[in-house]
Amino acid sequence: MTEPESGVLYLVATPIGNLSDLSERALRVLKGADVIAAEDTRVTSKLMERYGFSKPMFPYHRHNLERGGAQLLEKLKSGERVALVTDAGTPGISDPGEDAVALCAAEGIRTVAIPGACAAVTALTVSGLPGGRFCFEGFLSAQPSARAKQLRALAAEKRTVIFYEAPHRLRETLADMRAAFGDTRRISLCRELTKLNEEILRTDLADAVRYFEQTEPRGEFVLVVEGAPEEDAFWSDMTVAEHVAFYVDDGMTENDAMKAAAKDRGVAKSEIYKEIKKK
Ligand code: SAM
Repeated sequence: MTEPESGVLYLVATPIGNLSDLSERALRVLKGADVIAAEDTRVTSKLMERYGFSKPMFPYHRHNLERGGAQLLEKLKSGERVALVTDAGTPGISDPGEDAVALCAAEGIRTVAIPGACAAVTALTVSGLPGGRFCFEGFLSAQPSARAKQLRALAAEKRTVIFYEAPHRLRETLADMRAAFGDTRRISLCRELTKLNEEILRTDLADAVRYFEQTEPRGEFVLVVEGAPEEDAFWSDMTVAEHVAFYVDDGMTENDAMKAAAKDRGVAKSEIYKEIKKK
């Protein structure tokens, strides 16, 4: 395992709750850095305390991007080994890590990612929803009409969709999701991941809205929403006989047409045969 190099920015993923979720490589880079750019220096102090070391830090967050960015570049250009950490998780995922990397890219400064925890991926892992194809939407707009519009634009999205949400906006967001996606769309609400009060609620949107009418939302949430159903198959309004006739008209033998219809419907060919011989 190599030590951090001079003049390189290391984007170090940190735990999203459980402080044990820091990789050996992340620890080595943090310990080997000359300075740490931290979104919240108090959070990073706790992490360093847990691992028994201390490093100089400077703040780099949404509200000091210009000053923090200038400091970051100055340190990197003077050959310091700089690690950047955000409050929790992977820098660059809905946090100011993305600005730091863009800044370095524009200046030709090398950046290295030290991967680790990410709330979106952790939530998807336990959501029980398809993880083969998904998209990440991060935080929706805080403005109600813009949020409703964003959700309407996602109504036909077939991939699993992942959102971050603050507890004080959860109820409104769930109501808007229900309006845009319908009552029966499945959702996994992943709360306080990796923490003592971790909770995964796998349900549908109508039920999620009802549940949080009774329960005060508290803690951090990732919402993982099922994608829109695939469009109805072309044969969904056809009788079995019409389905077979469709393939026959298309040039198949009756036997092949029955096989094709059986495959479409996920049943045995004998069932198709029985159905069309009934008449
Ligand atoms: N960069 C971070 C990552 O890799 O996940 C995300 C930063 S974003 C500013 C913070 C949001 O992530 C929170 O509002 C919440 O939606 C989600 N989050 C972070 N930690 C979480 C946890 N332990 N459980 C559930 N959601 C979490």
